[in-house]
Amino acid sequence: MRVRFWGVTGTIPSPSLVASTGGGGRACGNTTCIEVSWPGQTIIYDAGSGFLAFGEAILAELAADSLRSTRIDLILSHPHLDHLMGLVFGALTYDPRLRIHLWASPATLEALNILLNPASPTSRIYFPPTFIEMKGLADRNAVIPGSTFELGEAKVQTMALRHPGGCMGFRLTIGTKSIVLASDHEHPRQGVDEDLARFCEGADVVYTEGQYTRDEYEGLTALGAGPPIPRKGWGHSTMEDCLATAMAAGCGHLVLGHHDPIRPLESLGHHQARLLAVAGNRLRLSMAIEGEILNLA
Ligand SMILES: [Zn+2]
Ligand SMILES: [Zn+2]
Repeated sequence: MRVRFWGVTGTIPSPSLVASTGGGGRACGNTTCIEVSWPGQTIIYDAGSGFLAFGEAILAELAADSLRSTRIDLILSHPHLDHLMGLVFGALTYDPRLRIHLWASPATLEALNILLNPASPTSRIYFPPTFIEMKGLADRNAVIPGSTFELGEAKVQTMALRHPGGCMGFRLTIGTKSIVLASDHEHPRQGVDEDLARFCEGADVVYTEGQYTRDEYEGLTALGAGPPIPRKGWGHSTMEDCLATAMAAGCGHLVLGHHDPIRPLESLGHHQARLLAVAGNRLRLSMAIEGEILNLA
């Protein structure tokens, strides 16, 4: 089984900023899109701008006749554009040879209807196409946050997250392995988020967000060229709180993503070292990097 990070930037794609701040030529700056796959089954978490490259890889496999299944399950956390734009602008969605099954909360499906149902007076305002043109999108399925369902070999547990407009986290259990995907979420208070810790308990991999440092969140330190701004209530978390929660949950590997789009990539190593000094050997910790692959035996 592998976890592949197609997009790990938050809020807005930032390729030019990443390049100018020394991204090292590595393709990066795409927004949330993470693949969890194993032979014969592919689950994709969110369809940010990283979904474009994911789709190209799938279509290349299809052209080479090496794609084992044309079914793709898209689990969508929420409809904010940084998690959705790739669905609308990626070629995969329009290819009738694919069968993309979309799983999202009723609120997210309602938002998609407003944007993409041809009968909606607000369709075509933000995007030219509608569901009619999306021949690769097989169906849209409602999932009540907090419920559990199955996708092939995977058991999928869900959790409502604290984020403006609502958001949903997912825990995938495949055989003996568990992977949590839970971004965009603001902790209710500083330190351990007990609900999230319960959801993540004993997971092998937890991908969550650490968009800010504690000082950036409190408005004590600037992020980028502007002045310091308090970010409480924006729906995002601090790296420190995510680490505290992951340690309380006893998870094996914490991966922090949804990087702030103006955070220089080369600074991630500094933050990783700072957090590792706190974590010690209680868990593995890494900053999500676009293009990286985790292989879980
Ligand atoms: Zn986001
Ligand atoms: Zn969001």
